[in-house]
Amino acid sequence: LDEGLRCIGCGALMQITDPEKAGYLPLSALKKAIDSDALFCKRCFRLRHYNEIQPVELTDDDFARLLHQISDTNALIVYVMDLFDVTGSEIAGLPRFVGENNPILVVGNKVDLLPKLLNQNRLKQWLQTMLKAQGIKPADIFLTSAAHPKNIDALLERVDQLRLDRDVYVVGVTNVGKSTLINQIIKSRTGVQDLITTSRFPGTTLDRIEIPLADGHQLIDTPGIIKREQMAHVIADKDLKYALPKKEIKPRTYQLNPEQTLFLGGLARFDFVSGERTAVTAYFENNLNIHRTKLNGADEFYNRHVGELLTPAPLNLTASPLVKREFNIIEKSDLVFAGLGWITVPAGIKVAGWVPEGVDVLIRKAMI
Ligand code: GDP
Repeated sequence: LDEGLRCIGCGALMQITDPEKAGYLPLSALKKAIDSDALFCKRCFRLRHYNEIQPVELTDDDFARLLHQISDTNALIVYVMDLFDVTGSEIAGLPRFVGENNPILVVGNKVDLLPKLLNQNRLKQWLQTMLKAQGIKPADIFLTSAAHPKNIDALLERVDQLRLDRDVYVVGVTNVGKSTLINQIIKSRTGVQDLITTSRFPGTTLDRIEIPLADGHQLIDTPGIIKREQMAHVIADKDLKYALPKKEIKPRTYQLNPEQTLFLGGLARFDFVSGERTAVTAYFENNLNIHRTKLNGADEFYNRHVGELLTPAPLNLTASPLVKREFNIIEKSDLVFAGLGWITVPAGIKVAGWVPEGVDVLIRKAMI
């Protein structure tokens, strides 16, 4: 460890003392990893083998310093977002630190999860509206799928057009697919994994990965920022597969009468409170069990069946596990269950969304 061993996956300095911090691996596993030449920290190991999320602590101070540094440089910002979890991809304060002169190229990733028939131009317009609400005016929006890359070369061309003799910083919250994208870029540009160099963001404990570009500039991968308000933090590891879809989402449409309820596994709940009989469309991982019942008695139903009929259950099930928020719908909207999916509802009705404490539930203009 004194030699400054680094994780092959994320570039963090390996350490054996703090499981909450970057680069952690228990001593026993570290010895094995060194012997087998596969030096991955616990988080990267788990991500590679089970696709699990294990957040690394990034202090607010570290993050503020990091942002400040980017705002002080002349650079193109590549902002990676997960199209299945746009709200969860938002970085608070992004417009502030990017400054007036640094353009932002927004990369909408995981487009493969959305229905194939979706018009990409309309999707870009919709994303533009979402970004405007965050105070972001992107130089361009690029849709891709890092896991099934077809257009990585086109993306790199666009990056070259926009960066004009500047460095490139890639930013994103954890789990939007930033590492997958960076790996594709490395493959496409160099073909050689070893060309990655890691260094420190001065003044922080954070490592950065630099990929050399043709003209002496660099593409710099920044640490993922962890969002706390997401479903992933209240789901057991084994149940994460219900929140993180792997394949194209098959929309599920329900004809509902007022005073009907849909349970989204045991994780969340949708109430059609009042309005005319109507259709709503649910966008969730295809294996997440959606159960329809009457609104009257739904609380009792939940308490009786959570963990059995209604699975998965949230972690730390308490006496009142789900918290309710009501919305009057004035235009066709998505009721978003942060990190889990959404239900598209028509104008003119009243609905409620229930989620475990600490998870966001909100309304946005309909995506589809
Ligand atoms: P990071 O935390 O932003 O670096 O995200 P990762 O690259 O580790 O990806 C997070 C999860 O999303 C992993 O399970 C990936 O396999 C998955 N993923 C990444 N890109 C895509 C994509 O384009 N489509 C789909 N369906 N999944 C993706």
